[in-house]
Amino acid sequence: MTQKNINDMLTSYDKKNLTICTVCSHSSLQIFNGARKEGFKTIGISVGEKKKFYDAFPLGKPDEFFIVNNYKDILKCTEELREKNAIIIPHGSFVEYLGADKFLELNLPTFGNRNVLSWESDRKKERIWLEGAGITMPQEIKDPKFIDKPVIVKYHGAKGGKGFFIAKTYEEFKKRIKKGKPYTIQEFVMGTRYYLHYFYSPIQDNAYKLKKGSLQLLSMDRRDETTIDEVQRLGSIAELEELGIHPTFVVTGNIPIVMRESLLPQVFKMGEGVVEKSLELFGGVIGSFCLETVVTEDLEFKVFEISARIVAGTNPYISGSPYSELIQSNMSTGRRIAQEIKYASKKNLLDKILT
Ligand code: AMP
Repeated sequence: MTQKNINDMLTSYDKKNLTICTVCSHSSLQIFNGARKEGFKTIGISVGEKKKFYDAFPLGKPDEFFIVNNYKDILKCTEELREKNAIIIPHGSFVEYLGADKFLELNLPTFGNRNVLSWESDRKKERIWLEGAGITMPQEIKDPKFIDKPVIVKYHGAKGGKGFFIAKTYEEFKKRIKKGKPYTIQEFVMGTRYYLHYFYSPIQDNAYKLKKGSLQLLSMDRRDETTIDEVQRLGSIAELEELGIHPTFVVTGNIPIVMRESLLPQVFKMGEGVVEKSLELFGGVIGSFCLETVVTEDLEFKVFEISARIVAGTNPYISGSPYSELIQSNMSTGRRIAQEIKYASKKNLLDKILT
């Protein structure tokens, strides 16, 4: 999908009747709610049937359900969605269910820069981007024989931390590793986790100013991960491991959090670096992105991952966070996305935020 295709598509769109469209999952309640607050119509793409639980949340329910047999069928329905002036808001499940390749092919205007995908999903490129942005990442251990401190082993493409494990020695690593699955070994960073939700606008200058556009911090969360976060109720990790019970890192929810105020300058410095480097590498990470961090006892950030779109960690903040309340009352990330689209449409700048 080239930018020219998207721009041509946009010329045929009725700008007074744009529709915000996403897959019914992940953060869709928030996206529909935010779009509604900004006066947009909404479409929820759903597989098989309309999802009944949306009836229980009228302010987060899409105006229209768009039913497909399976996610891949979205690609066949793009004409119909274009007639509805649909703008796609991608989220983690949207990209995962459709598949990254198909997401890149999707013939519809999509919020954010789709070029980010290859930089985010390839761990080597992600490191070039983030370290190039001046960020400290956990050390990578190239050869398991050199494990001499706690490490976390991550299988490539594993979603939601599934299958990840901690090892403290090479022996432990050998016992746990699944053969034939590509993996990365990272130093296990000791500290407290903060998942920082930023919003970068390349077209507005009314926040933390960057060389081009401006940056906001909308909220932050801590993930609730099963079983690692509660395993101590049964005994120490070491005790349990002796019995063959290993902690897992599967995300089941998100907990709201704020951080000590003196750390905020570092938060903005990291966000600034990430955006400036992304502009240089692939035209910029546009809109929402999240840095997944650990703060060490020396109050230093280590960033172990980036997500380049709205993350589910923004869901506790449908009516605003302690940070977004200092920007505008009652503003979620979903609403901020809708505002950006509204502003761009008014100023004829949609091609700067949609790809
Ligand atoms: P990820 O899929 O990279 O987001 O990792 C899943 C979970 O594993 C995170 O939410 C953290 O709880 C944990 N984790 C990942 N990388 C590290 C690291 N280098 N040090 C400590 N914990 C980590």
